[in-house]
Amino acid sequence: MKILFYDTKSYDREFFCGQLANFPGIEIDYLKGDLTPRSAVIAKGYDAVCAFVSSDVGARTLELLDSYGVHAVLMRCAGFNNVDLKTAARLGIRVLRVPGYSPEAVAEHAMMLALAANRHVHKSYIKVRENDFSLGGLMGINFYKKTAGVIGTGKIGTAMAQICRGFGMEVLAYDICQNSPPGLVKYVTLDELLAKSDLISLHCPLTEENYHLISHDTIQKMKDGVIFVNTSRGGLVKTEDLVEGIRAKKFFAVGLDVYEEETANVFEDRSDEILENSTTARLLSFPNVIITSHQGFFTKEALTAISRVTLENARACMEGKETPNEVKAV
Ligand code: NAD
Repeated sequence: MKILFYDTKSYDREFFCGQLANFPGIEIDYLKGDLTPRSAVIAKGYDAVCAFVSSDVGARTLELLDSYGVHAVLMRCAGFNNVDLKTAARLGIRVLRVPGYSPEAVAEHAMMLALAANRHVHKSYIKVRENDFSLGGLMGINFYKKTAGVIGTGKIGTAMAQICRGFGMEVLAYDICQNSPPGLVKYVTLDELLAKSDLISLHCPLTEENYHLISHDTIQKMKDGVIFVNTSRGGLVKTEDLVEGIRAKKFFAVGLDVYEEETANVFEDRSDEILENSTTARLLSFPNVIITSHQGFFTKEALTAISRVTLENARACMEGKETPNEVKAV
């Protein structure tokens, strides 16, 4: 089975090359560029493509891949909101992903963002480097005995709830299905979670139904002084409404690992460029906002699991076997 990997970095190559000996019959070629309708042509002659969070796996790309004989899309991530599943099903292209490769990696990053934004670590780091040891602007709040609101209690949300419990927090949760281990969280309506939580963290996938779940209306329902964290997907939050809420001093702190305009930025060094988009710059101008670069997943454990499971998915395709990692249009 020949697989063309798109959007790869040195660490992808390192982790996948390390696993390949365990998967005889699989050959990989790596590309730096991402998958788009224009770059799909390079996949001619390959059995499968391997794509990532910013790849364009929409209808046009899939139709082109199909015409070049590609019959599987291996997502080396958990999310698949960038894949047109209906078109894939119509063309008979299998789509496989890596669910739950290390929920703790993302949950720990979410809690790190909450803590860093709350205690202004980004500011204090710079201040101390400049020999400024004053504490002005650095005061935070205790998490102990506060209420965390976890939206989406799948693998990452459950790991986040466990971390919050470890901090001595009460955990409220909202999910369309109540799947958390018994006793870990208290399920409430979305409105109640928004109204009662001191820390709100998003852990649901981006779907057609929950696009802009966090917008003017839902922000209005939050407690004043709430800490808000998004490590899930940028499209869950309407950025201009978030900016409006920050300007209105609704939020004590905001930590974002994902945001709507991230696609052009994700994993690229753009430090020499003048960025075309002002909303991200606007967010970065606020002293109580921390943004990281979609790096919640980025631990050794997670990359080991991602490379192993992606290759297991490839083997399942090669052998025509079913796997629970296949995602299908509903
Ligand atoms: P999961 O499938 O285990 O859990 C998702 C949960 O969200 C499920 O319980 C589901 O019922 C719930 N859900 C679905 N729609 C909902 C809605 N409208 N409202 C409330 N809950 C809803 O997924 P997971 O492994 O926990 O991952 C969650 C998300 O985290 C992924 O979809 C992905 O977008 C994101 N993620 C981010 C990174 C990162 O590096 N920042 C890494 C991995 C995953």
